[in-house]
Amino acid sequence: MKQVLQDLSYGELAALTAALGEKTFRAKQLYEGLMQGKKISDLPVSAAMRSALLETYEDAPVKIKEVFTSKDGTRKFLFELSDGNLVEGVLMQYRYGNTQCVSTQVGCRMGCKFCASTLGGRVRDLTAGEIIGQILAVNRFAGGTPKDRKVTNVVLMGSGEPFDNYENVVKFLRNVTAEGGICISARNISLSTCGLVPEMRRFSDEGIPLNLTVSLHAVTDEERRRTMPIANRYSIAEILSACDEYFEKTGRRYIFEYSLIEGENADMPHASALSELLKGRPCHVNLIRLNPVKERNLKGTDERTAQAFLKALTERGISATLRRSMGSDIGGACGQLRASYLSEKPSE
Ligand code: SAH
Repeated sequence: MKQVLQDLSYGELAALTAALGEKTFRAKQLYEGLMQGKKISDLPVSAAMRSALLETYEDAPVKIKEVFTSKDGTRKFLFELSDGNLVEGVLMQYRYGNTQCVSTQVGCRMGCKFCASTLGGRVRDLTAGEIIGQILAVNRFAGGTPKDRKVTNVVLMGSGEPFDNYENVVKFLRNVTAEGGICISARNISLSTCGLVPEMRRFSDEGIPLNLTVSLHAVTDEERRRTMPIANRYSIAEILSACDEYFEKTGRRYIFEYSLIEGENADMPHASALSELLKGRPCHVNLIRLNPVKERNLKGTDERTAQAFLKALTERGISATLRRSMGSDIGGACGQLRASYLSEKPSE
């Protein structure tokens, strides 16, 4: 596999340009072209530079292979990486802008019982450029430019555990927030983790004040272990203390994802235990009804139960919202698209 040019920061591209014996302004052209989502072969650089780059770097490391459009306007993308691996992403339209969900790994090794991304285990990590490449491709597809972006917000909630691919994800975050590039503010980025405590602590010191989101999905360690194997390694208490450290260092409140699973975590005693756990903390709870996954036998709650759960939290002073499930008609849950694609096309 060739290298990924989109891995490089502007400073690194400038050094590469100089090393190729090109004038300084070429670095800017190169960077601007890449940030517009262009292939190397379409970049407005000298022919000599283009062919030098193509020797070492992938022409287009992330290609949109298929696009599915939901009735609610949500678009789901299947991306092909240069080694033929597939990852998926979603573009959701909200009143305030468009949020893109990106993948950080091909597959995942965290083993959550309700998640389709982990069904085949982890295949490999994505590079920083393969993560930003998903955004550049979608922004271009949607008719955006780096100045007039069609992707305004980013969530790292596609396939993969971002903190299991720490270095590449941090590099991606530095590049995507950099001035002069596609420049998406850290405030408009949410990173979701299943709760890798050492990496959460390490991340507190990176100086990237994004929306740190933790997939909680349970109120006791014992119950959490039933659906999330990572709970055997880190306790909820350790997660909460790492979240507090993040708040102290960045001033950003943190968020919990809580997928409502019938018969598992969605009864009224769970709502009151969750409120007790989070009372007084600078946090927000995102509830979502579990999306059924064909390969899993867990079910989401009905709407009424979800509303009752939400009400129980807010009545106890917990900031919470129930997320609309977007694009469920096109396989909205994590890893569903890739999983169904791979099962339909076993030869690939
Ligand atoms: N590995 C990271 C990010 C990827 S998953 C993490 O665990 O947070 C993004 C969110 O979707 C997580 O909160 C995850 O638990 C949740 N999720 C996975 N499968 C789901 C499903 N079938 N229905 C609803 N939410 C799901």
